[in-house]
Amino acid sequence: MLHPAQPILYIVVPCYNEEEVLPTTSGMFLEKILSLASQGRISDKSRVLFVDDGSQDMTWNIICSLARQDPHFAGISQSRNRGHQNAVLAGLMEAMDRCDITISIDCDGQDDINAMDRMLDAYADGCEIVYGVRAARDTDTFFKRFTAESYYKLLNLMGAEVVYNHADYRLMSNRALHAFAEFGESNLYLRGLVPLVGFKSTSVAYDRRERVAGKSHYPLRRMLGLAFDGITSLSVRPIRIITVTGLLISLVSFIGIIWALISAFTGSTVPGWASTACIICFMGGIQSMFLGVIGEYIGKIYMETKGRPRYIIAEKTDNLAEKPEA
Ligand code: UDP
Ligand code: MG
Repeated sequence: MLHPAQPILYIVVPCYNEEEVLPTTSGMFLEKILSLASQGRISDKSRVLFVDDGSQDMTWNIICSLARQDPHFAGISQSRNRGHQNAVLAGLMEAMDRCDITISIDCDGQDDINAMDRMLDAYADGCEIVYGVRAARDTDTFFKRFTAESYYKLLNLMGAEVVYNHADYRLMSNRALHAFAEFGESNLYLRGLVPLVGFKSTSVAYDRRERVAGKSHYPLRRMLGLAFDGITSLSVRPIRIITVTGLLISLVSFIGIIWALISAFTGSTVPGWASTACIICFMGGIQSMFLGVIGEYIGKIYMETKGRPRYIIAEKTDNLAEKPEA
């Protein structure tokens, strides 16, 4: 499928209490748009779309005054703080029908905006989704590297497949966005959901820097919360683990019952012990197994309630391209 040579690009930038950062980084985003447009790589109708995520500081005022100064700036403001993932979603959905591609990026200058050039190269090669992936974590401490690696291993182990070292710096084509809009769930973990969309995709590596100013809104507590959300919204493997554990306990209980009976018949126990042990083993085994089975059904219901699309078509042969006449 051919992509337009000069696509309209919307850079989607979530902002929460970023008054210290915005005056610096907004200029960087604008410069990028202007330079890409002057090279003829994107349309001049491209924009920087800020999403104010219910900030309590001057963020929204700054965005409004930027939009007055230069038509390449635009902004939307959420009615209240809903968190980073939700702010990115709001921006992507706002941009979806106005552009050919979006690139989501944090507003704090941590993600190298020059990676956008390579993302556009990949788009020109036919990719619909391009993941920005953090290059080597050489500058990180051992602790930081270790926790980050364990984090991805844990997610994968729990059945939530995510792109390694990818946060939310990514290019999505209009087609990928429309397919993604079909995912109606409110429990959002974008970096796990976007790969489910499919289509041709690739990654580009970039260096992640320090924030230009201000401080992170993601302390360890929120990071762990995000990981937990990721696992529970993408996978029912934790329930499967309960079921398997239940089966194992049942098996051990069964062996326990046989052992209790043999002990009773060989007379090596006090009266009453064998019957008590049998009942405990039986109840323990059966309860944990049944709990797992109930869990399996709840997991199915959970996945059904998300109402995700059951298939997304990438291409059709020409003779199916037009709608049949009624
Ligand atoms: N952000 C947001 N809503 C929030 C928290 C953060 O829109 O409730 C934005 C924030 O302005 C920034 C991006 O999400 O552009 C990433 O946040 P931050 O830099 O604090 O996280 P970190 O990079 O430390 O993980
Ligand atoms: Mg940051």
